[in-house]
Parts: sequence; structure tokens; C-alpha cells
Amino acid sequence: DAPVLAVDGPGGSGKGTVCRAVTEAMGWHLLDSGAIYRALAVAAGRRGLDVSDTAALVDLAHGLDVVFEPQPDGTIRVLVDGDDVSVQLRSEQTGDLASRVAAVPAARDALLARQRAFRKPPGLVADGRDMGTVVFPDATLKIFLTASAEERALRRHNQLKEQGVDVSLADLLDEIAVRDERDRNRAVAPLVPAADAEELDTTGLSVDAVVERVLKLLQK
Ligand code: C5P
Repeated sequence: DAPVLAVDGPGGSGKGTVCRAVTEAMGWHLLDSGAIYRALAVAAGRRGLDVSDTAALVDLAHGLDVVFEPQPDGTIRVLVDGDDVSVQLRSEQTGDLASRVAAVPAARDALLARQRAFRKPPGLVADGRDMGTVVFPDATLKIFLTASAEERALRRHNQLKEQGVDVSLADLLDEIAVRDERDRNRAVAPLVPAADAEELDTTGLSVDAVVERVLKLLQK
């Protein structure tokens, strides 16, 4: 099997940025598993589907029509049901709905094969919450990234600002707390480091410093 780098951690821990940089440095493939949960949330929203309707959600997850299209500028266009939902995908509202959808065990199961299919030579960088614990338990290297809640809220704030979205820092802190709580305490695939994961606190560290650390561990 192709090598896999599993990178898990809470939102705003820097996973996305670090994973993109490591993917590029290694020339590997990238799995943004959060984007798959977000796509499922968008698809559910489009159908007016109630998240508590587990059977319908699982059906939708199995047949989920999501396409990731890398663009020349390095961004990725996301199509759900053939429609470009790239902007909607990144909204806080979609993130919140995604974390509700992700708390349904059967919906997670329904997305497993789709995620594992990203594992191809020369290798895969897998970004998520349960990459090292559930999806790729045999990963070559497992990293668990953390950062203080304040730092994560600030990073999200800056990210949203770049996208022209102005959300108060206090609101973001509240949202992060709620989502962390839900991700950590759910019955299936809770957000916890794998027993054999390297934990890395990125508070106060630059992206470059974190990427360098990860590449060093990977090349060991
Ligand atoms: O990382 P991102 O914010 O895009 O993820 C959105 C939500 O999807 C998370 O809050 C989490 O609940 C869920 N998720 C998950 N397992 C993953 C990736 C994301 O449960 N592997």
C-alpha cells in the first residue's frame, strides 16, 4: 500500500495549511476529509433533509455526488450535484452542519471507502479528525496538531477576513468551543489522538516551522 501521513486535530489547529504544504513538498495526494463531511452537509441542506433522519442521510452519503477539481491557482473547486459550492462549503454554517452530520455513526461508515480510495502512489496526506484512529489505522506516520482555542479562533478570523467575511472573534471562540465539545464527545470516532500519534502544539509556531517538523518526522 502507498504510504499515508495521517494528520488529525481540531479546527484551526493549522491542519489544512500544513497538509497542503506537506502534500506539495512530497508530491503526494491530499485527502481533505472535512470537505467530504461539509459536502454531505451541503447536499443534505439542498434536499431539506433532516439530519436526524439517519436512513436518508446514509443513502445520501453512499450516493454523494461530490467532485474535487484542482484549479491552476492551487485552489480546489468543489462541485456537489454538479454545482460549484466552493464558497458555501467553507462557511461557518456548513461547518456546523457538517459536525452534526459527522456525529451520525452510519453516515461516517458510509464515507469510509470513499476516503480510503484516495490512498494511491506515491502517497497520501490525510487531513481530518479520525485519519489515524479509524480511516488509516496503519498510517506510516500519525500527527496530532493542536493549538489553544484563542489562537485557533484568531486563525479562523483571519482566514474568513481574507475571504471578505467579518465575524466577531468572540462568536468564533464560542463556535469553536461548541464544535470541539461535539467532536470530542461523540460516540463514534471522537476527536482524540491515536495512541501512536506524535502530538504537536502549534500555538505560536509559524506554518513553516510546523511543516519542517512534519517533513523531518516523515523522512525518518
Ligand atoms: O475540518 P473541517 O472544519 O472542514 O470539518 C468539518 C467538520 O467535519 C468537523 O467539525 C468534524 O465534525 C467533521 N469531521 C469529522 N471527521 C473528519 C473530518 C471532519 O468528523 N475526518
